[in-house]
Amino acid sequence: MPLPLVAIVGRPNVGKSTLVNRMAGVRSAIVHDEPGVTRDRLYQEVEWNGRRLRVVDTGGLVFGDDSEFLPHIRQQAMAAMAEAQAVIFVVDGREGLTPADAEVADWLRKQPLPVVVAVNKCESAQMGLAQAAAFWELGLGDPIPCSGIHGNGVAELLEAVLAHLPEVTEETVGEPDPIAVSIVGRPNVGKSSLLNRLVGSERAIVSPISGTTRDAIDTMVTWEGQPYRLIDTAGIRKKNRVEYGIEFFSINRAFKAIQRSDAVLLVIDALEGVTEQDQKLASRIEEEGRACIIVVNKWDAVENKDTYTLNDFTREIRDRLYFIEWAPLLFVSALTGQRTHKIFEQVNTVVAAHRKRVPTAVVNEVLQDALAWQSPPANRQGKQGKIYYGTQVAERPPTFVLFVNDPDLFKDNYRRFLEKHFRQNLDFTGTPIRFRWRGKSERLVGRAVRKLEGSLTSR
Ligand code: GDP
Ligand code: GDP
Repeated sequence: MPLPLVAIVGRPNVGKSTLVNRMAGVRSAIVHDEPGVTRDRLYQEVEWNGRRLRVVDTGGLVFGDDSEFLPHIRQQAMAAMAEAQAVIFVVDGREGLTPADAEVADWLRKQPLPVVVAVNKCESAQMGLAQAAAFWELGLGDPIPCSGIHGNGVAELLEAVLAHLPEVTEETVGEPDPIAVSIVGRPNVGKSSLLNRLVGSERAIVSPISGTTRDAIDTMVTWEGQPYRLIDTAGIRKKNRVEYGIEFFSINRAFKAIQRSDAVLLVIDALEGVTEQDQKLASRIEEEGRACIIVVNKWDAVENKDTYTLNDFTREIRDRLYFIEWAPLLFVSALTGQRTHKIFEQVNTVVAAHRKRVPTAVVNEVLQDALAWQSPPANRQGKQGKIYYGTQVAERPPTFVLFVNDPDLFKDNYRRFLEKHFRQNLDFTGTPIRFRWRGKSERLVGRAVRKLEGSLTSR
């Protein structure tokens, strides 16, 4: 069940990000003072009175001024709105109603979304009411005085927004959440060409609005009823190429995109093979615990392909990208479209594995089976490793806790064997999996297990 999404819009500097951070309970708010500073569109989860929602902070909405960043920021706000079920329109209570606010309001009234007006920077309750009253004439309902910095009025604001959002019910179940897919790789491997293929594929429905940040361009695409957010790190630099001269490879930009994604398409140039930069990206994907597909592009340009070519390539990639040996390989050509239609299908497969939850009974069956195949090693003193019990404690990526007598008795090779056994028996194509080894005395294990089981069944 996707959480309802609320877009926070308003002019720059009215306090949107402060307010979002306040709602999400984030302490270390990073706030810029210059108006119009672009930031990553940030999705945060908010919980209020047992109900949950997501809020997205848009960069800031300004009309009638197309200088520099503003078109980008506006695009971002619109992309957020396209996904959102409600809007919080933030205005500055100290500054009062400005012509720019009126313009935003005119535009918002034409949108098919409920709007709540938040009159921010109203630290004092009494003054606040007077300040808020000035915004009645926007024609967007009861303006709510609040302060992102002090926190007053934020509860009222959330109540007002929640009143517009559907309760989580059976009927709303089944509407899939967008899957975030980033396309990363060195310059010129064909990321943009690949994106165009995905967006241009026959069955893909592209939403007319795409979001833009300084680091990536997001495009919303629906394929067979499933929405995807494609995060492209290449396009934005292309736009600025004139400005910056030769395109450079910013690994940090790729890292940020990886962090924002469910699945990563790591694009490798078939003509160049695996480089050190590809290795850095692969190991970051593993560390961040993201699902991944290795896309070997420009397959059309590989000359004199024979029966060995594919195997040789596969071997090289497996060797040099061993951190992500679990990632499926796809040999494609963005130029001709060869096999690119497989990408969405593969993304679905790896994302399903990434989100998989294995029942505790099955985890323990697989564990017992592993133990039967290969018993845990004993150390030089003859003390043998014992695994008492295992259970999955998290998904995205699947994470298992194993209760054992002493984690030190399980060396890397046994741990690798166990991971392999899990992978062979439970399909984890395209996702990292994690094991946490917990050593406890048997009595404590029993207690921990009962507590865990209690918390699992009460979910
Ligand atoms: P955004 O551009 O709309 O996201 O605005 P920011 O959250 O970056 O805030 C802009 C400026 O307003 C910063 O200097 C904040 O410290 C200040 N600010 C934000 N919220 C409040 C508030 O509730 N009261 C006061 N007095 N200042 C605020
Ligand atoms: P990006 O920098 O990673 O976004 O790469 P581009 O998509 O801009 O592609 C870089 C160059 O490689 C362009 O000249 C493309 O035409 C070319 N290219 C992209 N995909 C393929 C492919 O599948 N086969 C061949 N032969 N060339 C490709």
